[in-house]
Amino acid sequence: MNKPNIVILGAGYGGIMTTVKLQKKLGVNDANITLVNKHDYHYQTTWLHENAAGTLHHDRTRLPIKDVVDFSKVNFVQDTVLSIKPDDKKVVLENGELDYDYLVVALGFEAATFGIPGLIENAFTISSINSSRLIREHIDYNFAKYNNEAENKQERLNIVIGGGGFTGIEFAGEIANRVPELCKEYDIDRSKVRIIVVEAAPTVLPGFDPQLVEYAMNALEAKGVEFKVGAMLKECKPDGIVIEKDEKREEIPTNTTVWAAGVRANSIVEESGLEVNRGKVEVQPDLRAPSHQDVFVVGDCALIMNEETGRPYPPTAQIAIQEADVAAHNLSVLIKGGTELETFHFNNQGTVASLGHDDAIGVILGDKKLFGWSASVMKKIIDNRYLLKLGGVGLLLKKGKFNIFSK
Ligand code: FAD
Ligand code: NAD
Repeated sequence: MNKPNIVILGAGYGGIMTTVKLQKKLGVNDANITLVNKHDYHYQTTWLHENAAGTLHHDRTRLPIKDVVDFSKVNFVQDTVLSIKPDDKKVVLENGELDYDYLVVALGFEAATFGIPGLIENAFTISSINSSRLIREHIDYNFAKYNNEAENKQERLNIVIGGGGFTGIEFAGEIANRVPELCKEYDIDRSKVRIIVVEAAPTVLPGFDPQLVEYAMNALEAKGVEFKVGAMLKECKPDGIVIEKDEKREEIPTNTTVWAAGVRANSIVEESGLEVNRGKVEVQPDLRAPSHQDVFVVGDCALIMNEETGRPYPPTAQIAIQEADVAAHNLSVLIKGGTELETFHFNNQGTVASLGHDDAIGVILGDKKLFGWSASVMKKIIDNRYLLKLGGVGLLLKKGKFNIFSK
């Protein structure tokens, strides 16, 4: 008997959780499960800002896929997806092709650059282990270089963060903690270093609780972060950026622009011929693509409308993990010949954003506000809970964050 082929693309939050759930729900005689990922490791995207700042080594953030996926049940293919051909039920990889009966698209996000000149060429993004490690190395190099030139160049010590959303603010908190260490290491006066967050909206973290936003700005300012709000980043050059505020343009010299001003779905999705809305697949309640009933889409490639606000749910790890549960359940029902598919309902467990490892802000349980140390502990509990869900106590003990009392 021919077993159906299930192919899962991407081993981030959505893809790896779908795989881990499916390997429990299906036996080897039920289906062939194939997981495709660029690297042989899974990484926690939600920790990448720490790797980029150099406050956490990237080996803490990544873990071998073989540690959580059972390779006797799942065929793992380390390769890069080039395109999806849903009408032919095929996926084209750099090194071959795969046929599928059921597909799960979990290829994550890429930076949205909105056509701003020079961004692709000159800015850095916090989007993978490789891109984050590059930021850390680049900042280290610029600090090291500063005292080794005839003329000191201020652009080496100006770190610009484009976008004051959650990613920009979390990175600002980490880099503000790292800068004193860098200054000590490279004999640089702290007062010479600038960390500048450029945010187009009238406030950072637009739409978030104003009291917590104020707390975050005060906490970051106390660590030396400058804010330029209501200021639009207009151009990025190799040695500076151009911003516009109140119709006036200003140029800030910098060799380091970290672009954190928004994400879009992996462009493979838009190019695939799957029906898209804002570059994502607006999935049915059972998480299948409306145009292709054999394709499930989870994580940042999927769009689900929040009926209460009339706007899409923001792309988060939280929703990706919850979607993986439903996608795995529905796939196992279909494989076993069932027709009753589960409907996805987002269970909002709150939002907690770090301001460095010992400080954070958040809203949990609907409207309970948290800030400071208790919020930073909550953030670590959320991170640890994910590790427990993914790989049990062993993984939690190996990779968990337990430094709740250290500075
Ligand atoms: P990802 O987790 O990004 O995984 C995509 C996977 O696909 C990766 O393994 C990648 O290598 C692989 N891949 C990509 N392209 C290819 C290809 N062509 N071929 C093969 N493999 C490929 N959300 C929260 O809920 N809480 C947070 O605290 C939080 N913090 C964040 C902090 C930062 C710095 C960032 C950038 C995001 C944060 N988010 C947070 C958002 C969250 O990380 C994303 O929504 C989540 O990662 C989406 O999961 P995903 O499975 O869709 O994609
Ligand atoms: P975002 O879209 O949430 O924020 C981007 C910010 O950049 C916005 O405030 C926007 O006004 C600003 N911006 C856009 N264009 C600009 C320009 N030209 N100049 C200056 N500012 C500009 O994007 P993000 O912060 O990358 O977050 C992506 C997703 O990941 C979101 O869904 C977010 O909720 C999630 N995330 C969550 C957490 C957390 O829960 N702790 C942390 C990081 C990211």
